[in-house]
Amino acid sequence: MPSSPTSWKGCRVTVMGLGSFGGGAGLARYLAEQGASVTVTDLKDAAALQDALESLRSLPIRFVLGEHRDGDFVDTDRVFVNPAVPLTSPYLQLARSHGVPLDSELNLFVRQCAGRIIGITGSVGKTTTTSLLGSILQTHDARTLVGGNIGGSLLSRLPDIGPDTPVVLEISSFQLEHLDWLGYSPPLAVVLNLAPNHLDRHGTMAAYQAAKEVILAHQAPDDVAVLNWDDPTVRDMAARGRGRRLFYSVQEPLEAGVYRDGSALMLASGGECRVLCHDSDLRLRGLHNLGNAAAAAAAATTLGVPPATIAGGLQTFTGLPHRLEWIADKGGVAYYNDSKATTPFSTQCALQAFEQPVLLLAGGYDKGTPFDDLAHVMQFRVRIALLYGNTAPKLAAALEWVPTPPDVIQLPTLDAALQRAADLARPGDVVLLSPACASYDQFPHYEARGDHFRALVGNLP
Ligand code: ADP
Repeated sequence: MPSSPTSWKGCRVTVMGLGSFGGGAGLARYLAEQGASVTVTDLKDAAALQDALESLRSLPIRFVLGEHRDGDFVDTDRVFVNPAVPLTSPYLQLARSHGVPLDSELNLFVRQCAGRIIGITGSVGKTTTTSLLGSILQTHDARTLVGGNIGGSLLSRLPDIGPDTPVVLEISSFQLEHLDWLGYSPPLAVVLNLAPNHLDRHGTMAAYQAAKEVILAHQAPDDVAVLNWDDPTVRDMAARGRGRRLFYSVQEPLEAGVYRDGSALMLASGGECRVLCHDSDLRLRGLHNLGNAAAAAAAATTLGVPPATIAGGLQTFTGLPHRLEWIADKGGVAYYNDSKATTPFSTQCALQAFEQPVLLLAGGYDKGTPFDDLAHVMQFRVRIALLYGNTAPKLAAALEWVPTPPDVIQLPTLDAALQRAADLARPGDVVLLSPACASYDQFPHYEARGDHFRALVGNLP
């Protein structure tokens, strides 16, 4: 459970992993401002971490970049671990063997946060659902904060957080591994889905699922878990923890919870059902996003948000960049940027969101996830698969096993793939970047990949 703040004055702390998404920088800033003696160490060099370093320029922080040094994990009072660092890192073993406690930015936050934390996890849809719930709650209670894996750090906002302040946190499987050290699950937890992801880090699906289950494992009887009825693994996860369960579904009617009936999103509660909104009211595309909307709506009801406010929030949310983001129509061809689709499962969902023939641009860094299910969906939805990057041969091999594969073209880069797609597209087609893989083989992160795609499309005649 969250406890009172610790004093950091005079403490030596090592922040392992600065990163580029603001969490590491926010943590280092917070600790330095609290009087700790802070060392930040990252395997990336100063050039790669330029923006984060710039944001910390005025603070008395020692930096060890481009390497880690044993001493920073031994002669220190605490090591803060970035979620991107594997827990098998020999430096963490070193710290443990010297009795140095491990901590994290999110653990530090939840220990001190007086507000009402809503934690959202799943393999995909976390950021969309976190933002959607955040925007519904903000119209209900303007104090609502949104953070966690979505980027940045809420540590600097701790003084603004009162006992009832809603705090919506996107929580990754890596952050959940850290929360397990505290024996902490959020009082309101949302689990969206579980599909193979990050197997390069977790090793097996069982280990990945165990990490995700931390969001429920430490819940008390008064806590609430909002769970996806349509995902059999998530449905089974209801057995974990002691909180009350509330389900949502886009496939079946439910006696209690949020579900889809025809084209309406329904709220069933206390034996009564009412329409929240219709599919056509939402500005998001695809059945998976209706699921995200149902999850956000179900969570909001448990916080006492009136149905009309929930409906209003669902109707005004316009979606996020890099997630099925429409970029342009050129010569009757629609271009979409779904660079955030870093798993085969999200690419499957993206493909199912279009009626039109799709020219799919996919490939990238190999996270160890299998492509068989994606290949199966591709045969029905994709006219031409333009595969690029490290995983292009693996994706092409998966397509060899399906009965009616699309045309497959392997190319070295995203630039070449887009150029070929633009040459081959016919009016009425969709050109979709939905890579099913991480971007690290050719880009620093998915945002850089999506921005690059947007610029390339902009340059097409
Ligand atoms: P996350 O934060 O979990 O990575 P995002 O909301 O950023 O999830 O979406 C990541 C990708 O997955 C995007 O391509 C998006 O279109 C797709 N997506 C979003 N929600 C879902 C869902 N519920 N099921 C499958 N794919 C989804």
